[in-house]
Amino acid sequence: MLSLDVEHRLGDFDLAYALDSRERVTGLFGPSGAGKSTLLRLVAGLITPRRGRIEIAGRCVFDSDRGIRVPAHRRRIGYVFQQARLFPHLNVARNLRYGAWFARARPAAARFDRVVDMLDIGALLDRRVAGLSGGEAQRVAIGRALLANPAMLLLDEPLASLDAARKAEVLPYIERLSRESELPIVFVSHQLDEMLRLANRHVVALRDGRVVFSGKSAAFLARPDLLGPEHARDAGTLLRAEIRGTAAHGLSALDCEGQPLFVPRLDQAPGGRVHLHVRARDVMLARSRPEDISALNVLAGRVAAIAQDGDQAVEVTLAIGNQRLAARITRYSAERLALAEGEPLYAVIKSLALAEQAWARLGGL
Ligand code: ADP
Ligand code: MG
Repeated sequence: MLSLDVEHRLGDFDLAYALDSRERVTGLFGPSGAGKSTLLRLVAGLITPRRGRIEIAGRCVFDSDRGIRVPAHRRRIGYVFQQARLFPHLNVARNLRYGAWFARARPAAARFDRVVDMLDIGALLDRRVAGLSGGEAQRVAIGRALLANPAMLLLDEPLASLDAARKAEVLPYIERLSRESELPIVFVSHQLDEMLRLANRHVVALRDGRVVFSGKSAAFLARPDLLGPEHARDAGTLLRAEIRGTAAHGLSALDCEGQPLFVPRLDQAPGGRVHLHVRARDVMLARSRPEDISALNVLAGRVAAIAQDGDQAVEVTLAIGNQRLAARITRYSAERLALAEGEPLYAVIKSLALAEQAWARLGGL
C-alpha cells in the first residue's frame, strides 16, 4: 500500500528511503531522530524529495523522472500527530466537521455517526476542546482525520504524549481502526509493544535516515541487532495460537500446534487467533517433560538449530509442529544438556511471561 524510493537532504540530515509494503497497515519503527516523521512528511507532500518516487495505495504522487508531483492537498492524507492539535476555539463536533470541510467531502450523516461511534466520542460532541483529557483529544484528532475521507492515514506517534493509563484508553481504538477499517495506515512508534500490536504484519525500521529493515514483524522480532539497545531483550518469536476458551483462575486456554497453552485472560472469543510474543530469554529448555514446576506451559518440540550468540549465549530454535520457537540460554546450559539437532526437547514458558506481553495478541491473522 506504500511504496517509495527517495533521496533527500535536510540541513545535515541525509536520507535515502526505499521500501515497499503491500500490507494495509505498515508500522514505522525507529529511535528518536531516525527520520520517521520526515518520512511521513515526504509521503504527505510537505517536503519534496530531491529525487525518487512515491506511491500511495497504488497511486503515484511523486516521480522525479516522470515529472509527477501531486501537491499535498491533493494527496488526501489524514495526519494525526503526537499532540492532538485541535482548534481550541471550536467544540468537538466543529473540530470533527472541520476535517470534512477541509476535504470538501461533506460527510453523509451516516459516516459521521460511524466515526463518532467507532471512537466512542458521542458524549463529547458539545464539549470544549480545552476540557478534554489527552486521550479524548487524541480520539477526536483521529476522528477529524478520518472524516476528511483520506486515502491514507498517517499516525505519527499518536500515543507518545500520553501517560500509561491514557495510552491504554486510546490503544484499543487505534487497534480497532487498524483491524476494521479498509484504510491504508502508517503507524509510527518507537515502542515495540505498540508496533507489534497495531502494525502486526509489515514493519519498516529506520535508523539515521535509512531503512534498515522492511518485512514481516515476526522476522523483525528475531533480529536483536535491529531492535536497538532499548528493545534487544525483547527479541524472540511470535507464536501463533488459537483461543480455546476461558480456564479457571483468570486464565485463557489456547491451542498451539495441538498443545495447550495458558495465558492470563484475553478478551477474545474462542476460535480467535492470536500471536503471542515470546521473548527468547523467557524460554527454559528441558530434556524431559518437567513436572512439579510452577510454569504452566510446556511445549514439546525438536531442536531445529543451535547457533552461537556471542561468548556466553546460545540461541536454540525449536520446531514445534509447523512453527519455530527461539530460546536463548547460556552456552554452559547448552553444554550441560548436550543439545543436538533433531533431538526432542521441551520448552517451558511461564504464563506471566506471556501476560506481560499480552499486548502482542494480534487480531485478524
Ligand atoms: P523522528 O521522527 O524519527 O524522531 P525526524 O524525522 O523528526 O525523526 O528527524 C530526523 C532528523 O532530521 C533529525 O536529526 C532532525 O534534526 C532532522 N531534521 C528534521 N527536519 C529538519 C529540517 N527541516 N532541517 C534540518 N534538519 C531536519
Ligand atoms: Mg518524529
